[in-house]
Amino acid sequence: MLIDYHIHNHFSPDSDSPTEAIIEKALEAELNAICITNHSETFVNSEGMPGTVQPDALERFRKTRQEIDVFRRKYPDLMIGFGAEVQYEDNMCPATELVEKAPFDFILGSVHNLDGINISGHTHADQFFEGRTETQAYHRYFEEMLKLIEWGRISAVAHFDIIKKYGHEHYGPFKPEKYKTILIAILKKMRDKGIGMELNTGSMHKRCKELFPHPTILKWCLETGIGHFTLGSDAHHTHEIARHFDEALAIAKDVGIKTFSTYQNRQPTQHQI
Ligand SMILES: [Zn+2]
Ligand SMILES: [Zn+2]
Repeated sequence: MLIDYHIHNHFSPDSDSPTEAIIEKALEAELNAICITNHSETFVNSEGMPGTVQPDALERFRKTRQEIDVFRRKYPDLMIGFGAEVQYEDNMCPATELVEKAPFDFILGSVHNLDGINISGHTHADQFFEGRTETQAYHRYFEEMLKLIEWGRISAVAHFDIIKKYGHEHYGPFKPEKYKTILIAILKKMRDKGIGMELNTGSMHKRCKELFPHPTILKWCLETGIGHFTLGSDAHHTHEIARHFDEALAIAKDVGIKTFSTYQNRQPTQHQI
């Protein structure tokens, strides 16, 4: 079973990929299942605040769902999930309303913003790291991750250690052992809430050039008893679909992951890799 469970299409504010082109690319890559996981927010709202769920979000998700229904009939050999990528904010009320109203199969949870700065994009990330020690910066990120898990209305955590994407340029390679205490606390909370872990290949060719999360964290996931894993390219363009999956599968096998999960109406099903 091969899946790409993190794809943005043209209804996401930062992607222009037509859904049918995504499906054709997925079939070419011999995937069995995909999930469209558009951002739940636009990046800047009318007041200039980043990352607030916009009034048109439900409408964009409704159109995405309509398209998926059409293509499910046209391409019965590919499982097509209807998902979302929800980022953690100080105010999660709009996101809570969104995930309760839209009939998602799968919800990724992300931490993109810290103290009003997008730490996953190259425009402003440096502002976050300047003036902070590595420990301060990474702890701040993982504390926010704990809050995301406490909110908890997600199926899996996206790009779990994305703080290293730009952090490694300031502090060198990310060493999970230094943060083991808080990381294990996060993983235990994920386990208790049935939240899975995503293997995300989005930065394997750029910036930190590593899988999210670090293989050591994947081993801790298994030791902690996390039961569900997904694989995602975080494609914002069709040529990025299934990118670096061979390397990710090798890491998955090496650490002992045996299954990937797909989701229908938020219910997971495990499949042998
Ligand atoms: Zn993301
Ligand atoms: Zn994404």
